[in-house]
Amino acid sequence: MSLVVMKFGGTSVGSIERIRNVAKIVEKKKDKGHDVIVAVSAMSGETDRLIGLLKEITPDYSLREYDQLVSTGETACIPLVTQSLLVDGYDAISLTGLQIGMETDIAHSKARILNIRGDRIKQAISEGKIVVVAGFQGYNVETGDITTLGRGGSDTTAVAIAAAVKADVCEIYTDVDGVYTADPRIVKNAKKLDTISHEEMLELASLGAKVLQSRSVELGMNYNVDIMVLSSLEDKPGTLVTSKEDKNMERIVVSGVTSDKNQAKITLLGVKDEPGVAVKIFIGLAEANINVDMIIQNVATEDGKTDISFTVPKTDLIKAKAACEKLGKDAGVQEILSDENISKVSIVGIGMKSHSGVAATMFKVLSDNQINIKMISTSEIKVSCIIEEKFTELAVRVLHSAFITEKQNGQL
Ligand code: ADP
Ligand code: ASP
Ligand code: MG
Repeated sequence: MSLVVMKFGGTSVGSIERIRNVAKIVEKKKDKGHDVIVAVSAMSGETDRLIGLLKEITPDYSLREYDQLVSTGETACIPLVTQSLLVDGYDAISLTGLQIGMETDIAHSKARILNIRGDRIKQAISEGKIVVVAGFQGYNVETGDITTLGRGGSDTTAVAIAAAVKADVCEIYTDVDGVYTADPRIVKNAKKLDTISHEEMLELASLGAKVLQSRSVELGMNYNVDIMVLSSLEDKPGTLVTSKEDKNMERIVVSGVTSDKNQAKITLLGVKDEPGVAVKIFIGLAEANINVDMIIQNVATEDGKTDISFTVPKTDLIKAKAACEKLGKDAGVQEILSDENISKVSIVGIGMKSHSGVAATMFKVLSDNQINIKMISTSEIKVSCIIEEKFTELAVRVLHSAFITEKQNGQL
């Protein structure tokens, strides 16, 4: 007998019929003698619907009220799943983030988990119950306020619970049957991976592959939780995300191609080129809880001025521009420009550590397809380029074709 965490995403619980299907999958696991904790998302479309309502009132909404509102999507879903189990004759209980003691910091809309008390989960499990937990939501002990873990955060709820209760496995059920070499909705011949390392999956997820929220992979890596990505719609083998060694991993140069349209570029014109200026701006942005990604500073002109460009999530653009207006005064910023029509395309692979020329090939493939590169960033296991948003799908396809399809056919 083992302890299993099973997470079901929005599409998997998108209708009562689907919820009944989820109950059957959970019951099968329970019938095999396992203890089961289920984490669920809101029904598909519900989180977007709620955010839409808030935006009808104002685009500049309070993040506390946002959390209070969007957390209800998951709160409404757990009794439906639980009731389905109860009518089938299984003992089950639904619990919210607050009820399981999911303690987070106070960064509303993207809170980080600090601790899970988990006593109620353990109690219910010891009574033989299936525990159905609301994903995505937590609360801050100091303020007593509800928080949420960022879009896609139910994955993180599941992995965090798996780590806290020392579950044997964390299964993430979704609408695809595993992790692919690219989003299968964009690249039709993308290939399903049997296994992928936490390290590579973390890069892919951080760079836009929304099949897993990046924080869930980070937790999996830090607490050594293996994550199995599976389909809730078909009974097929999935993809194991693990840190266990796989001899083949290093031989593959590029494991995946991904893209992220939630990017915007800000350019500050006329910044004073002197020590301490960049610090002021970027510390200010960090204090406003804005994640800055790529940063480029131009060579200074003779009058000691320079331009700095950087990217932020599109969802933080209004906040980031407001912060720059405030911070920029001291730094002599003359003008603030922004561009929302950009996206980031990336290639990821552990094998890059030991192969040269990967970035050059990526630039060539993009240029052969007349795609202009606006910004570049690299790490040991990834290369990312900012391009015009309208070329996103084309870029993903041509990069997948060059680095993965042709490679399989021995052409690269
Ligand atoms: P859930 O609602 O179950 O959390 P998500 O919509 O968040 O599901 O994530 C699943 C989606 O992730 C898939 O439908 C797929 O389009 C997308 N996706 C993006 N990149 C990948 C990839 N590399 N492999 C598999 N799916 C991917
Ligand atoms: N319901 C939340 C969202 O849509 C969390 C999740 O689905 O994981 O982002
Ligand atoms: Mg998701």
